[in-house]
Order: sequence, then structure tokens, then C-alpha cells
Amino acid sequence: MRYVRVSVNGAPRWGVVREGEVLTLRGDPYGEQLVYDGEVFPLAQCALLAPCTPGKIVCVGKNYAEHARELGSEPPGFPVLFLKGPNTLNHPEGTLHAPAFVTRLDYEGELAVVIRRRAKDVRAEHFADYVLGYTCLNDVTARDIQQHDGQWTRGKSMDGFCPIGPWVTDEVDPGHLSLETRLNGRVVQRGNTEQFLTDVPALLEFITAAMTLEPGDVVATGTPAGIGPMAPGDVVEVDIAGIGVLKNRVI
Ligand code: MG
Repeated sequence: MRYVRVSVNGAPRWGVVREGEVLTLRGDPYGEQLVYDGEVFPLAQCALLAPCTPGKIVCVGKNYAEHARELGSEPPGFPVLFLKGPNTLNHPEGTLHAPAFVTRLDYEGELAVVIRRRAKDVRAEHFADYVLGYTCLNDVTARDIQQHDGQWTRGKSMDGFCPIGPWVTDEVDPGHLSLETRLNGRVVQRGNTEQFLTDVPALLEFITAAMTLEPGDVVATGTPAGIGPMAPGDVVEVDIAGIGVLKNRVI
């Protein structure tokens, strides 16, 4: 199943993508049963919205060993968590913009997990019961601010710093996904979730031991090596095989 959120006459609606069409839903897809409202729209004519409505975005830092090393540190022995606020949520095709005081604006292509059911003290072997599906995410970072502040809140949580999409699919195995980030068409990051230091089942067990995840919450699973800066006019794409491409322009 591929879940999307689309704007219909200015109002957000959930839908399911099937053969180039969006079948819209009554309500959201988090419940036990999907209820179709009978309307159908051509996917190509739909304005896509971020395919989730998170109260919180829980991010994992340094979940690829090579990325930890490029930041000058050894891989941590446990998942390092931080949060991005819901103000960071941005849409497929949404524009990225940093305040003028930011001197280095970085992309970080990542696999995102979207939660379906309230999750607390989840055992790793039961993780799939709590997941709506998977999508692409760009953990946009003001690197200079992150380094200046010594902690990550301001550098990671500026408005619009978390584009997510284009849709959420449950048709992939999160343990075997290849990810590529492109800047103006040039490949700048390449990774595979097989390289995760902590895989998705173990991440959900670790996170939900500490905090309850709610339907629509997002877990960003960390970025591979190759982080780098973006400039106004750049187009950044996060492409995960089997999911799709999240494309945003910097203004
Ligand atoms: Mg990140």
C-alpha cells in the first residue's frame, strides 16, 4: 500500500496510490481499517503534502559508521537521539530556506519510519505492528549553528528543515534499502540500510523504552557519509529504491 496526503481544493486529504491514481480516504490510515470516500484523482495532478502528521520527529545521529567518521568521531555504541520539532515539517516539492545568519546549510538524506499505532515498550520482533510504512526524509541542518551551539536544537529545527515524502509505503523491507542523495543531479551520498549500526526493529525498541510514539510520529534513521552544503537555486533529491524520490529546491 502507498499512502499519500494531497491537497484537494486547499484541504488536506489522505489517499492510497493505485495505478497512477489517488483513491482518497475518509479520515486517516492509522486505524484498523481504511475507509475510502469514493473519490479518485489522477496522481500527476495532485499537490502532494508530507505523508504524515508528526507530533515529534525522533532522529538518530551517526547510524552509519562512515558518517560518524566524517564528523571526526568513532561510531557511538548506542543510538544517539535528538528531536526535530513539528515546525520543521515540509512537503514534497516544498522549498528550503535558511535565515540569513546561517552560513552552511546541509542536506542529510535518510530513511524515515512513520508510526501507525501508539508504541511504548515495543519489542524489536514486534516492530512491524507499529509501523505504517517508510518514506524519504531530508534532515536539513544548519551545520554552522549546530557546531556553534554545542547542541543541536537550533541547527536542526528551523522552520521547514524536514521535507518528507513523496508517500509512505509498507511494501519494502527497511533492512535492505539503497539510498542515494543527489545535488543538482550529481550523486553526493550513497548508502544502504544494511549498513545501519542500529536497525529499525532495534531502534523502535530503544526509542519506545524511553518515550511513547504516537500515530503519525516519525523516526529518521540517520544519514550515510557524504554530507555537504546546499546553496540557493540548488535542487536536492533523496532517492530510496522501492520508495521514490523526495525533491526540494533551495531558495
Ligand atoms: Mg540526520
